[in-house]
Amino acid sequence: MNRLRDVTDAATARSPELGPVLAEERSSEPVVVNAMTVDVEDYFQVSAFEGHISRDDWDRLPCRVERNVDRILGLFEEFGIQATFFTLGWVAQRYPRLVRRIVDHGHELASHGWSHVRVTELDADRFRDDLTRTQALLEDLGGRSINGYRAPSYSIGESNLWALQVLEETGHRYSSSIYPIRHDLYGMPSAPRFAFIPEGCESLLEVPVTTVQLGASKLPCGGGGYFRLFPYAYSKWALRRVNRQDRQPAVFYFHPWEIDPAQPVQSGIGLKTRVRHYLNLGRMEQRLRRLAADFPWTRMDRLFVRGAERTYADQA
Ligand SMILES: [Zn+2]
Repeated sequence: MNRLRDVTDAATARSPELGPVLAEERSSEPVVVNAMTVDVEDYFQVSAFEGHISRDDWDRLPCRVERNVDRILGLFEEFGIQATFFTLGWVAQRYPRLVRRIVDHGHELASHGWSHVRVTELDADRFRDDLTRTQALLEDLGGRSINGYRAPSYSIGESNLWALQVLEETGHRYSSSIYPIRHDLYGMPSAPRFAFIPEGCESLLEVPVTTVQLGASKLPCGGGGYFRLFPYAYSKWALRRVNRQDRQPAVFYFHPWEIDPAQPVQSGIGLKTRVRHYLNLGRMEQRLRRLAADFPWTRMDRLFVRGAERTYADQA
């Protein structure tokens, strides 16, 4: 039984602020504004390397996240894009000035949990601790209330939907933690494709990463490895289809390490992991530039949170 309530229409109809933001193009056709998101973590923190790199070793590895995020800030500035940065507490603690720069550039600071432990590994108490610890640090550093959360490796799905209620209890306003596809590491194919209020929640919105419907199939088109794997023309076609046929904003994501072909190469990993992590890193920035130019982009909270952008002090 699908325990989710698909309230896509309700979520978009009840408030113009929650619906797709429409901008008038020079032609008479309105365009939907999409959400650009970055998962702020370093190359050695990805779940695919979990069995090869211990969390105890993270402090000893050369960090590249700061310079990579700075490049992303520069790129977004060039294209006039304000985006959402789902940031690990671990990264924020070591690079507090980077967190300030993200906020000072006009972006939304949001949570990616403390140290990239999948939610499927946690019970409700430990998940709550992880959320509140990360939220407290990000709010102190950024001076803004933290509205958004993305689970490491999209690790909220059929088996742990209780996590969405914990997110609401801890004051989060939206989550972007479900990938409604079939995948060996994550995914909940039965989930709605667009924003919905999960069962048991009052107002928290789950905003899945974007897929395109093709016949009976949902194909991924919201970023990550797929964006590097498939030709850019596919992503452009798919995102356009979501905007024009579904008339919904797309949610796109990528990682700072994906624009860094010079990162240290991890040995001893399987072929599938190697392809997923390293394929086309050298082409990524150019593709992002095309994506930035081809579609209008904004922050998650501007699309999905009513009355967003309060400061932390306003909230207290
Ligand atoms: Zn992540």
